Amino acid sequence: MKESKMEANLYCIQCRDETPHVIFYINNRIKNVECEECHRIQGIKIDIMKEFYKEIYERISTKPARITQEYKQDLNKFLLKLPARAISKPYRLIRDLNNSRKVIKQFKN
Ligand SMILES: [Zn+2]
Repeated sequence: MKESKMEANLYCIQCRDETPHVIFYINNRIKNVECEECHRIQGIKIDIMKEFYKEIYERISTKPARITQEYKQDLNKFLLKLPARAISKPYRLIRDLNNSRKVIKQFKN
């Protein structure tokens, strides 16, 4: 899961003018938009857990069929077992999952 940001000039309801805004993204989906003049934050509702599961599903769907099957049967149980299983998996997956957890934590605060 990736966080990124972009700047753009948008119309701010509070400033009643076109001002520089910072747009924050999670996985290329807009999370919120902040006006740089008045710092008004426009939150966008995204289902963070749905994004997270979708991402994991996409990764796992290329893995052996047995794992995919287990994953479909009980996602929560699968996620609990994941750290042990991940030892034999590429380092990158673990790192990305840790990163995703960080993003989710920030988002929930
Ligand atoms: Zn503003």
